[in-house]
Amino acid sequence: MEKVRSFLRREEGSVLVIAALAMTALMGFAALVTDVGLLYAERARLMDTADAAALAGAQELPVSLEAAEHVAGHYIERNGGDPSDFSVYAGTDPDYPGKVVRVTANSEVDFFFARVLGFTKADVGARAAATAGGATSANHVVPIGINKEQERIPGKEYTLKFNAPPDDKSGLGAGNFGALDLDGNNGGGANDYRERLKHGYKQVLKVGDVIIPESGNMAGPTEHGVSHRLNGCNHYPRCTIYHYEKDCPRVVVIPVYEIYEMQNENKVKSMKIVGFAAFLLKDYSEEGKGNNAKATIKGYFLHDYVIPGDSDPEQKNYGVYGVNLIE
Ligand SMILES: [Zn+2]
Repeated sequence: MEKVRSFLRREEGSVLVIAALAMTALMGFAALVTDVGLLYAERARLMDTADAAALAGAQELPVSLEAAEHVAGHYIERNGGDPSDFSVYAGTDPDYPGKVVRVTANSEVDFFFARVLGFTKADVGARAAATAGGATSANHVVPIGINKEQERIPGKEYTLKFNAPPDDKSGLGAGNFGALDLDGNNGGGANDYRERLKHGYKQVLKVGDVIIPESGNMAGPTEHGVSHRLNGCNHYPRCTIYHYEKDCPRVVVIPVYEIYEMQNENKVKSMKIVGFAAFLLKDYSEEGKGNNAKATIKGYFLHDYVIPGDSDPEQKNYGVYGVNLIE
């Protein structure tokens, strides 16, 4: 009996040692779970801020490098990032053609449990880069276009849908007034044209897509569609070419095309999209009195309009830039 007691006493000591070891192991697991979780959370936070700041900055790349850096930095501050954790660079980059906005972030995470194992803190970092290049795809495109042969001058007024031949620079030939059928198939006619003028084409269009002319003047659908957009500008003061809101319904993105196939020597059968251009629609009121030619669409060329979408630094610049993350 005495032997059993002393055995048990000895075992008690072992149990304590085992319990102590188990506690350390548990703390180790807790450290892993909690502190590694903290590391990941901090890294994700830095990553999100860096990505969004790079994208925001890249929207200004067509304007200037200073503007791009300023906007990226401003974005970081406004979204709760500690500016001392981030560095922003806008300019050329050895890894990419074209200009980039690069955001790098570094911060320290203080550990709770891993201190048991001798680790008090760790460095965590993230990096992001975004670029702006000629847009190679666009959403909500409206069914008028501009022939790539036409010179595009910033701020200049262009006739994008005409009512009578003197204004025709489309190169599309007899019976066409500048309206386009963006799905590339005959059919849909005036209804499709009017709805796409109002709301934009629902499918994404890409460089290389083939589109066709939508024949006919379609004065009614033109006025309907343009009025919808003109009335949709509820900005005060009203948007002008000197100051406009980027999301104004009066800003339209249209295809820049080249003639692809001919129906006969006087008439175009189809065109190929080579890029995208943006215009601010001219107000009817700017036309002055006595002008009732609402079958016409006029707009001012915007040379640095940025849209979300694919871009390619090799893509020729027609005024619309796509912005995307490259890292
Ligand atoms: Zn507006």
